[in-house]
Amino acid sequence: MIKESDFKMDTAISREVVDAGDYYFKVVKKGERVRITDLEGNQAADTLFYNANNPSERYSAMDTLREQGNAYLTAESVLMSNLSNPMLEIVADTCGRHDTLGGACSTESNTVRYALEKRCMHACRDSWLLAVAEHPEYDLTKRDISHNINFFMNVPVTAEGGLTFADGISAPGKYVELEAKMDVIVLVSNCPQLNNPCNAYNPTPVEISVWEAA
Ligand SMILES: [Zn+2]
Repeated sequence: MIKESDFKMDTAISREVVDAGDYYFKVVKKGERVRITDLEGNQAADTLFYNANNPSERYSAMDTLREQGNAYLTAESVLMSNLSNPMLEIVADTCGRHDTLGGACSTESNTVRYALEKRCMHACRDSWLLAVAEHPEYDLTKRDISHNINFFMNVPVTAEGGLTFADGISAPGKYVELEAKMDVIVLVSNCPQLNNPCNAYNPTPVEISVWEAA
């Protein structure tokens, strides 16, 4: 569902451009809004959320999809935790559909899906591992890296129940905006993947902006 935001960029309290292959790791407080903008189009932002006050509580794809009865995320989707608490709500979305089934790229999946020599290519899982290693203050480890959301990524579910990585439906300037229902740690890997059309074989930057609670 396409729904635009009333929030203007010049009122954001923080704005950060995240290059492909880099990560974003910040706390967003309850009531604040966080927007991810696909600056050049056809990018994938692989995202994890944790309760900032108890990081063992985290985003759960299963609980979210079960509660909303829909395989895709868009405006009005409420992102649920593994303790069945609402963590964030998607309050605006100009792309229209986001994946939470396909998982993040890793050196292992690159090897299995593409070729043995892809093993050394940079992957989202590496960016997350680097993020948690460089920021011990969040008290997260490798064990906490779990299933995620792929904002802007187009992963259609087939009639047979399979997944396909398809050409993106996003475009330059499209965004998704979420309102935090609790204090959340936001961990985004801006995907460096070069082997599938999820980012048009050309990974590009995203911008992440935050607005104060109303
Ligand atoms: Zn990736």
